[in-house]
Amino acid sequence: MHAVDIDLVEMTLDVMKYAINRITHRTPELGKPKKYEELRALVGDTITSNGIGGERAFELFRDVLAKATVPIDHPRHLAFVPAAPTRAAIMFDLVTSASSVHGAYWMEGAGGIFAENEAMQWLVSLTGLPAGAFGVFTSGGTAANLSAMVTAREHWRAKDESNIGEKALMITSIGAHSSIKAMAKVIDADVLLIDSEEELKGNELQEAIKGLSPQERKRLFAVVATGGTTNAGIIDDLEGIAAVCNKEAIWFHVDAAYGGGALAAPSVRAQFNGIEQADSITIDPHKWLFSPYDCGAIIYRNPELAKKAHEQEGSYLEIFKDEGAKGFNPADYQIQLTRRVRGLPLWFSLAMHGTEKYSWAVEKGIELAQLAGKMIQADDHVELVRDPSLSCVLFRRLGWEPEDYRNWTYKNHKEGIALVTPTKWRTRDGFETVARFCFINPHTTDNDIRLILDTMK
Ligand SMILES: *Cc1c(COP(=O)(O)O)cnc(C)c1O
Repeated sequence: MHAVDIDLVEMTLDVMKYAINRITHRTPELGKPKKYEELRALVGDTITSNGIGGERAFELFRDVLAKATVPIDHPRHLAFVPAAPTRAAIMFDLVTSASSVHGAYWMEGAGGIFAENEAMQWLVSLTGLPAGAFGVFTSGGTAANLSAMVTAREHWRAKDESNIGEKALMITSIGAHSSIKAMAKVIDADVLLIDSEEELKGNELQEAIKGLSPQERKRLFAVVATGGTTNAGIIDDLEGIAAVCNKEAIWFHVDAAYGGGALAAPSVRAQFNGIEQADSITIDPHKWLFSPYDCGAIIYRNPELAKKAHEQEGSYLEIFKDEGAKGFNPADYQIQLTRRVRGLPLWFSLAMHGTEKYSWAVEKGIELAQLAGKMIQADDHVELVRDPSLSCVLFRRLGWEPEDYRNWTYKNHKEGIALVTPTKWRTRDGFETVARFCFINPHTTDNDIRLILDTMK
């Protein structure tokens, strides 16, 4: 064998060994961030005219850079929305990369897109949307929400030409994810926020619509409900909101980026009733469906409306519309053209484990939240802010100021014990800083919870 080939084989083996080692260790070291200057001093120049060699570059990643990251699948990473991709999905993410599949058009990506769509069919079945509903995998919840908003806005304009010159207006609640407001900027729409920290109810929505001026009412094109708020796991009154949207003929979007995984959990499924009446739904498999980053999904009741909004025209793209290339083109249903077949890792893992294993793993997160709630109630130094919802638990340490929560977070992180971050919860007197758990990893144990609660004593 040529010398260069031997190097390449060795490097491949090193990298695969690292990958296998990483995914078989369920409690990886909890890395700590370092300042740019520190990393720079440790790593030095890596981009040089002749290259530093794969061995050296890999060493730097393994020994320095990876240690300056927090593995989000650590069983005591309970901050933000953590992740816990299955080993099968991670391994297949490597296969997805190695296979060089272009996921925009059926013509090139048929086999990969076919598999993605099998997984998508299962997601769609969880929502209860009627036949004809379908979706596509996106880079995440933000891109999914944006794709839905563009579709809704274009549909609103197509329905009534006099809307073309109007600035669109949408209604959501203060519990909605920050990406809703951020993506409203992208489409230059106004957002009316209903001030309800608990679930948004149909009658509150109806009141808000009644309060609009005729001009504002004309501009109203969509309502965004949340199927599991990121902060507290609260599910809006989807049935009530659906009824209002139906009556008022407004696009009904459900952002279930975090909570959508719980559609697979029989114990809480009824709380999502009404979701089957949505016009579009966002679900992030990279949150609670155990896919590696990045993998979001947008599902439409009527995918043809998405196609009208997103299909791209171009002389070099025309071939994709030929009879010989016919099939499902993911590029037609969301904002991205070239795309990774990022639904493939989910497909492989689902095919390997079966859907019941997924239901088990999601139920486990809900059980952990209930268990943490009981442990908090039994302890003297902490108390629940509200009952756990989905896999989120908000609680307070009696006597603590915001400063104490901050110091506690940093101390646990620095000592490699856990990553748990505080959040804010609205009370009558303003915003209170409280502690928050979000459980995703089914391998988190009651000992992990005990250990963390004890660090608050
Ligand atoms: C996380 C989240 C998003 C954003 O999703 P990304 O995948 O981070 O882009 C949107 N909405 C909700 C409710 C979320 O929890």
